[in-house]
Amino acid sequence: MGRNRGWQSGASEALRWRPGATVTDIDPRAATGFEGDASDGRRLLSKRGKRLSELQELLYANGRSGSEASVLLVLQGMDTAGKGGIVRHVIGMVDPQGVQHAAFGKPTAEELSHDFLWRIRRELPHGGQIGVFDRSHYEDVLVVRVHGLVPRSRWEPRYDAINGFEAELAGSGTTLVKCAMFVSLDEQRERLAKRLDRPDKYWKFNPGDIDERAFWPQYQDAYQAMLDRTSTDVAPWHVIPADRKWFARLAVTELLIEALQSQHLDWPPADFDVREQKARLAAS
Ligand code: ATP
Repeated sequence: MGRNRGWQSGASEALRWRPGATVTDIDPRAATGFEGDASDGRRLLSKRGKRLSELQELLYANGRSGSEASVLLVLQGMDTAGKGGIVRHVIGMVDPQGVQHAAFGKPTAEELSHDFLWRIRRELPHGGQIGVFDRSHYEDVLVVRVHGLVPRSRWEPRYDAINGFEAELAGSGTTLVKCAMFVSLDEQRERLAKRLDRPDKYWKFNPGDIDERAFWPQYQDAYQAMLDRTSTDVAPWHVIPADRKWFARLAVTELLIEALQSQHLDWPPADFDVREQKARLAAS
């Protein structure tokens, strides 16, 4: 990669949702904040993956020593936005022992009988872990709002409830990395078409995904409200243009690295006398 290529400032600075911004102005093909092409991006991803993996080991080691610090990656996006690809290609670069992964589909009858955060709390990462939410509590102000699955009087208070919940998480040592992935309607059509063309992709196809395309404007309104109302200092949203998979993966990798670095963790000191143990080993 030549000079001046790569991230022009920090990824979180470049990608953070700015108050006053408009969802319909987001360019899903952009490589916001990054100078370089796909091959630069792929090369950098493999290098940064190693850094991510080191930092995850540091987090895990701290967790083993009783630290409460954790990271929670929240992935939201329309069908085909590439959430699964992030899990496979970004989270796949770290040791799975330290990952707590949860995907949130349509709630079960039991889940519906509880508050909307009930199923979320059960999947939170413990100290030392990276939690990954493929969809999340935000479905309860997205699909639920778009389709009126509960009356407005029930979903409206959820924005404040989410802010309170996330402030509580941040206060107890979890660094939230919230990523809203934006794929264009055209790119979504291509990705769905690919699923219909390839027998090895049929399993990913859901006819309901085509129905959802008709609700695009309503989803844009719901995303706008979500970003406006739940991007806070302790848990800001990041906008990930997702038409170019290489960029989305690079961006999320960098956001995770920045989140882990912001925790300023050190390797936990030995809770034994190193010299004494060396002597014992030599004598054994
Ligand atoms: P994906 O589309 O994420 O690849 P999928 O097609 O395999 O996933 P599931 O993971 O089983 O499907 O479920 C995802 C679906 O569940 C999405 O349509 C999503 O909107 C819906 N969903 C998630 N949370 C809720 C919720 N709280 N209420 C209603 N529907 C929800």
